[in-house]
Amino acid sequence: MSTFKAVFAEQFEGKPKISIQQVDRASLPPGDVLVRVRYSDLNYKDGLAVTGRPGVIRKYPMVPGVDLAGVVEESSSPDWKPGDEVVVTGFGLSETAWGGYAELARLNADWLIRLPKGLTLKQAMAIGTAGFTAMQCVVALERHGLVAGSNNEVLVTGAAGGVGSIAVAILAKLGYRVVASTGRAELGDYLRSLGASEIVNRTTFNTPTKRPLESERWAGAVDTVGGETLAAIVRALVANGSVAACGVAGGAALSTTVYPFILRGVNLLGINSVYVSRSDRLLMWQRLSRDLPVPLLDRMTQEAPLEAVFELGEKIIAGAIRGRTVIRIS
Ligand code: NDP
Repeated sequence: MSTFKAVFAEQFEGKPKISIQQVDRASLPPGDVLVRVRYSDLNYKDGLAVTGRPGVIRKYPMVPGVDLAGVVEESSSPDWKPGDEVVVTGFGLSETAWGGYAELARLNADWLIRLPKGLTLKQAMAIGTAGFTAMQCVVALERHGLVAGSNNEVLVTGAAGGVGSIAVAILAKLGYRVVASTGRAELGDYLRSLGASEIVNRTTFNTPTKRPLESERWAGAVDTVGGETLAAIVRALVANGSVAACGVAGGAALSTTVYPFILRGVNLLGINSVYVSRSDRLLMWQRLSRDLPVPLLDRMTQEAPLEAVFELGEKIIAGAIRGRTVIRIS
């Protein structure tokens, strides 16, 4: 076939125009490996990209989809051969490189990793960038001294979302007492089924205050919300505790004093899933296949066709998606 189906983002008179099209195979960008994409997924950034909001796509034309899982079709690299099952996250997919919302992707050989043992291609995308980021958060907290123990409470914010749901499940499996913050009280049973010990309403963290410190509570936190929420977490970390900050679903401004840092020695750990060394990339996937129970992953995942990404994109921006959404590509 000389064409393939893709979500294609073009720019007309300075405005993005995004639709599903048959794209000429000859227009694929250069790369060593051609992958038949089976699944991609829906992340917050994908919501921004497919609805034409700024902040993700940095050049046009672009195929959105920040990650993909599929099967190698052609390869000029000695590392990959036709039939290999592969996963790609990061490397600017959907920003500067064509991403996963297409039947075919041509990629650099060193962007690929082998499908981790014990996972299907669909499960790898149920994890996807959200799960990869959740695992990075957990590993960053551990590297800064977090250890499981009955008195150690770990907070996860935006808990019913993609990164949040996976973070709850991993931390609970590792033996932490997980407190899940959500704006959707009706999802309390869902969060408990993933392993949360306690559910708190996200408005708890919304109230601005002039107090530089609050009572020490959180040994660690995974924050997907940012803004006032992140500031509230920083004020209530225990001495030498850490927050892994990865998201801005609730805002990007940060209002804090230096007191939590110099009086309690707390750590604000910025997490970015794009710039990750290959050894850490492999470590995250190894840990994900070990520390994330597959039945919980299946419980938090829904599947949708490529045609649904526009509607689902609006929903994820509105904070109305529960858990993870896998996008079926071919
Ligand atoms: P989701 O939309 O699935 O989850 C975000 C959750 O945040 C929502 O489900 C909701 O949870 C909560 N939320 C939404 N809006 C607000 C608001 N206005 N105030 C407070 N809470 C809100 O998105 P993802 O899990 O895919 O991504 C979460 C964040 O992490 C995004 O900002 C995303 O850009 C970022 N991210 C960063 C990465 C990185 O490399 N640093 C990689 C992947 C994601 P609830 O209903 O439970 O309150």
